[in-house]
Amino acid sequence: ATPVSLVPGIGRGAQAGVLVKDASALEALAKIDTLLIDKTGTLTEGRPEVVAVHVENHISETELLTLAASAETASEHPLARAIVAAAQTRGLSLVSAENFRADIGRGVSATINGRAVQVGRSDPVRRGRDVTFPAPPAVASTPASATLVDVTIDGRFAGTIALADKIKATTPAAIRELQRLGLRVFMVSGDRTATAQHVASELGLDGVHAEVTPARKQQLVREHQARGERVAFAGDGLNDAPALAAADAGIAMGTGTDVAMHSAGLVLVKGDLAALVRAVHLSRAVFRNIKQNLFWAFFYNGLGLPLAAGALFPLFGWLLNPMFASVAMSLSSISVVANALRLRRVRL
Ligand code: ADP
Ligand code: MG
Repeated sequence: ATPVSLVPGIGRGAQAGVLVKDASALEALAKIDTLLIDKTGTLTEGRPEVVAVHVENHISETELLTLAASAETASEHPLARAIVAAAQTRGLSLVSAENFRADIGRGVSATINGRAVQVGRSDPVRRGRDVTFPAPPAVASTPASATLVDVTIDGRFAGTIALADKIKATTPAAIRELQRLGLRVFMVSGDRTATAQHVASELGLDGVHAEVTPARKQQLVREHQARGERVAFAGDGLNDAPALAAADAGIAMGTGTDVAMHSAGLVLVKGDLAALVRAVHLSRAVFRNIKQNLFWAFFYNGLGLPLAAGALFPLFGWLLNPMFASVAMSLSSISVVANALRLRRVRL
């Protein structure tokens, strides 16, 4: 009985946990054969926790965490919040940051107590060697799936922070179902290759693009499109916005950033990929329905127009009484609306 029921596809979207901002995105979803999907906050909870800290000899763990967390206070990134939370749990008092700079998809830099602090994507090449960690707590995921973030102080590598983020409980089944529906699913992540690959193989994805910048995420969408694929992109972050806008169907997590939701045509309200499966089912039903409606509209008009124009008059003396014509016209609208209303019964 809500006004929403006038547009059944969209009304059903709401019940499926999908906010349809752009009806054409719902329609596009029916023909999608490729899904590019962000890792952090989309496949995973997006609530990472610090599970291990490695420090070089010239610095203490306390000092490293204090400097890193102080640099991260101004950042909105989930990793930043996790690092700040870890420092607070240890009772460290943070220092105010100057010259804060966020390099989206890479990390942050700031001046803390006159020292140039950089926190960002782990890079063994820049660091010069690999870092091993004490085994992280059993509750967290294995070290292989942990995200590593390097801390550099005054241009010198000072340590690495390992963060673990759990895969959302609904993710594995949703991915399997999307693949069963014929979609190929590729992860597109700004995280380091080892972490991305580990999560992708755990979920049985069809491929991984790791260590990608926001601009590269958008470029990947275009590259898949250039191969004739119909591409959906699902993401939650600032870094996903360009790709969401470029995809045939942009799908944002309702739990993510406003910018991502603004750039997408569909929003999964609870940030749950099970809703995406329901949206694909619904969009296919909507598409079938649109085709049926077009058929009936043309069918009525194809019959009625020649009749009204007197095409059968010379043969049988038949003409269409204008009153019947207008009833037929209304009936055609009613049949279309009635057929569209069947979408209310789509099983989600
Ligand atoms: P994703 O594509 O997985 O959502 P992002 O593009 O947001 O990830 O980030 C990519 C990588 O950049 C992160 O894995 C991390 O290594 C680094 N990074 C980004 N922002 C920050 C930050 N505020 N602090 C530390 N590292 C960061
Ligand atoms: Mg993300």
